[in-house]
Order: sequence, then C-alpha cells, then structure tokens
Amino acid sequence: MAFKSADFMCLDSLFNEEELLVRDTVREFVEDRVIPIIDDHYMAGTFPFELVAEMGKLGFFGANLQGYDCAGLNNLAYGLIMQELERGDSGLRSFVSVQGETATNPIYTFGDDRQKETWLPKLQRGEAIGCFGLTEPDFGSNPGGMRTRARKEGDSYILNGSKAWITNGTLADIAVVWAKCEDERVRGFLVEKGTEGFGARDYHNKHSLRASVTSELFFDNCRIQASNLLPETDGLKHALMCLTQARYGIAWGALGSAMACYDSAVRWSLERVQFGGKPIASHQLVQQKLVQMLTEITKGQLLVYRLGQLKEEGTMRFDQVSMAKQNNVRISLEIARMARDVLGANGILSEYPVFRHMANLESVYTYEGTHDIHTLILGQSITGIPAYE
Ligand SMILES: Cc1cc2nc3c(=O)[nH]c(=O)nc-3n(C[C@H](O)[C@H](O)[C@H](O)COP(=O)(O)OP(=O)(O)OC[C@H]3O[C@@H](n4cnc5c(N)ncnc54)[C@H](O)[C@@H]3O)c2cc1C
Repeated sequence: MAFKSADFMCLDSLFNEEELLVRDTVREFVEDRVIPIIDDHYMAGTFPFELVAEMGKLGFFGANLQGYDCAGLNNLAYGLIMQELERGDSGLRSFVSVQGETATNPIYTFGDDRQKETWLPKLQRGEAIGCFGLTEPDFGSNPGGMRTRARKEGDSYILNGSKAWITNGTLADIAVVWAKCEDERVRGFLVEKGTEGFGARDYHNKHSLRASVTSELFFDNCRIQASNLLPETDGLKHALMCLTQARYGIAWGALGSAMACYDSAVRWSLERVQFGGKPIASHQLVQQKLVQMLTEITKGQLLVYRLGQLKEEGTMRFDQVSMAKQNNVRISLEIARMARDVLGANGILSEYPVFRHMANLESVYTYEGTHDIHTLILGQSITGIPAYE
C-alpha cells in the first residue's frame, strides 16, 4: 500500500494543481530516495549528503523565494515540501530548512547584490552549503545575551566567540554568523569555510537528529572582509525574522513525522493479532489512540493551511507562527509516542520509522524556540506582558 497522507477534512481539494504536483513529486522522492537509506544513515550518525545535489535540482532549497535560481513556489507548496521531507526524516528537513531558509534568507533579505549573486544560486543548487549561527553555549533561548563580538579594523571585521548547536556547521561553505558590534548592535556576517581563525567541530553521540550534522563554531581573531557584513542587518530582530520564516516550515514539517507515525500505527494495528484472533485495531483503547492521532493531525493541518494563506497575503505574524510551531511539534511528538505504544515492542525497531521520528521530534521541540519560549511569546501576545525574566 503506497503512502497516503491523512486528509480527514478533505484539504486536498483546497490545494491547487501545482501544489499537489509539488507534494507528490517530493513524496515520490522521499519514497524512492530517502526511505530506503535514511535508517542506515540515522543508525550510523551520518548525513545523506548524496541527496543534496538531487534536492538542489528538484528546487527544494529556498523554494518559496523568487530569482537566483529559486523555484518561486507559493508558501503552501513550500509547506508541503517540508511536510513530505520530514515524513522521511526531521534531519533531512532540518538540512533543507537551514540551507533554504536560515542560511539563505539573511543573504536574500539583508545582503547586497554581490553577496546575493555570489551565494544564492549556489545555495539553491546545493553547490554550496550554508549554516546559521545564532545560539551560543551560554545563550540559547536568550540569544540577545550573545558574547560573540565583531570589531571593525580598517577594511576588516575581527570576530571572536563561539556558537553552539549549529546545523550543517562543519558541512557549510558559508556560515551566517550573528555577532555584537562595538556599538552593541547585533549584525549578520558571512564567514567562509577555511577563513583563518574560524573552526568547526561536530557533536557526536546524539540520540536525536542523528542523520543531521550539528556543530560548534569557533572564532579566534577571525578576520573577514568588511564586505562580508550583511549590510542591511541591524539588530537581533533581523536574526529572529529569519527564524520566523524557518519556523513556518517546521510547523508543516512536524506533521510529516506525525503522518508517518500514524500510518505505521494504523497498518500495524490492523495486522497485529492478540486475544481471540482479532487484530488489536478491533479494541476500543487502540481505536481511541488512532482517533486522537488523526484528530490532532487534522487540527494541525488546518492551522498550517490558514497560516500559509496568511503568509501568501503577506499578513502572517510571528506569534501566529509560534502557535503553529509549538502546537504542531507538540502533537507530533505525542503522536509518535502513541504510535510507538501501539506497535508494542516492535515500536523500538528500526524496521518502523516511529522511534526515529519520536527521537528527532525531541530536538524539533527545542530548536527554533523551545516549546515554552513560544508559550511565552503567545502569553505576551495575549496579555501584553513579557514573562521571560
Ligand atoms: C539538533 C539541534 C540543531 C540546532 N540547530 C541550530 C542552528 O542551526 N542554529 C542555531 O543558532 N541554533 C541551533 N540550535 C539551538 C537551538 O535553537 C537551542 O537549543 C534553543 O534555542 C534552546 O536553547 P538551549 O538549548 O540553550 O536551552 P535553554 O535556553 O537553556 O533552555 C532550557 C530550558 O529552559 C527553558 N527556559 C529558558 N528560558 C526560559 C524562560 N525565560 N522561562 C521559562 N523557561 C525558560 C526552555 O524552554 C528549556 O525548557 C539547534 C539545537 C539542536 C538541538
């Protein structure tokens, strides 16, 4: 039986022909190219680099941007790409989010023409890899406290500091690095691989997002040309703007993991026989879990569909994105745990994707703003009172 995504509220009838074509193309790619290899990569702790050029050719990177070899798709089609990729693996979707959003967007939005022409086509084709360095060892949820510094010296900036938990860090040809300047303003800089004083080292032994590269970045009197400053960046708000774009994709993506887990749970429950020769799907408690999974997936789909419409209209707010990211990742994690339960002991095996998705979603719950930080964003949006400190 080929994979069919949950569509209880007939959302497929709302997507246009192009959106469905994009979704089906990515679905086929995931079925043929990702699913056969992803578990081996996950267990080995390696990223499936062999897929990068193909994803570039298929236009997955920066797919909702215009020009510079980007596919120029609308935001619903972009969301569906994220959903389908994450049905394969959150690590692969993370790569695409970073490559096509958090590394691309700062250059696209805040870069000058030379920076855009140099980097954007290469990033979109997958010929260069990008990363986004905001988090630091002591400043995760509160990046405004960052210690990484950029000091102007003639025609150069000298960077000092470090970044933590950076997706694609050691793979990256170009790192978008956020640092505080002498006037205390946070600004974005482009640091090329191989620049003297710039180093990167991977985290090992992760129990989550194992098919994704996560690294520390180090800057020790790292001298870059002043022309590598992203000229239009002015304050932390610009780094956060880039995150809003990526979180939009995560809200869609998490549903892909949830759909994979739900699909596994339904199939398994219909096949697995216990007590009196009946499949476990015939028991009310199992049905209740399946119903809960489908209901939450459906609510999540409606949330991102509407968010996509708002993004298309150009009126999407960051707190709306917070609600979608927070809700969809939480319910996907709960669905993955329920699916694991329905599969019993078999739920811990690599033969089924549920444990991998469950472990991956633990990271997705934390990165791009933790679940609780999004709660505080929404709390402030309701009450007007910031409750961070
Ligand atoms: C696999 C992975 C990939 C990542 N990729 C990137 C990347 O590419 N680029 C990048 O810049 N970063 C990246 N990150 C970092 C990620 O964004 C941070 O981990 C995240 O922002 C949380 O920071 P922290 O881990 O330091 O947790 P902390 O900020 O220390 O939070 C720990 C706990 O305290 C809670 N907490 C913190 N402050 C408050 C508060 N005021 N009120 C209530 N609760 C609070 C949090 O919700 C959380 O539960 C990645 C992380 C992971 C795990």
